[in-house]
Amino acid sequence: MYPIVKREKLADKIYLMDVRAPRVAQYCEPGQFVIVKIDETGERIPLTICDYDREAGTITIVFQVVGASTERMAGLKEGDEIEVKLLDIDPKTGKFKLSHKVLLPRPEKQEKK
Ligand SMILES: Cc1cc2nc3c(=O)[nH]c(=O)nc-3n(C[C@H](O)[C@H](O)[C@H](O)COP(=O)(O)OP(=O)(O)OC[C@H]3O[C@@H](n4cnc5c(N)ncnc54)[C@H](O)[C@@H]3O)c2cc1C
Repeated sequence: MYPIVKREKLADKIYLMDVRAPRVAQYCEPGQFVIVKIDETGERIPLTICDYDREAGTITIVFQVVGASTERMAGLKEGDEIEVKLLDIDPKTGKFKLSHKVLLPRPEKQEKK
């Protein structure tokens, strides 16, 4: 789960959120999406990555409230946590694919001798 570090209402039913998700921020590219789950039982919704900051380890999403999940998301505040997984679209099939880099175990940090 990743913390929401910024929540801003941009307009009626339109919200911006910065989420601290360092591994997603490290690997994401323009045009990719994340699958967001508000909690363990929440529906999976795709949202476009609007911006990212690799140094801060954050991604920015902007969403419109249209139904149950986006309504619940709008009720979250800074400090609340959500699940985000990086998605890509396979250029050949047009289907979503989960970036395998995000699923790989974190490499062990090298000890300095
Ligand atoms: C690849 C991809 C990227 C997306 N990126 C963004 C994004 O960056 N920001 C964003 O706000 N949304 C984005 N969406 C749309 C977003 O995923 C849906 O709005 C969300 O899943 C709706 O979930 P819900 O449970 O709130 O509403 P639901 O209960 O699933 O939907 C409620 C009602 O709204 C209708 N609806 C659902 N989505 C849309 C839509 N996009 N336009 C019009 N009517 C809709 C449904 O048919 C239903 O009648 C993206 C969708 C895809 C496929």
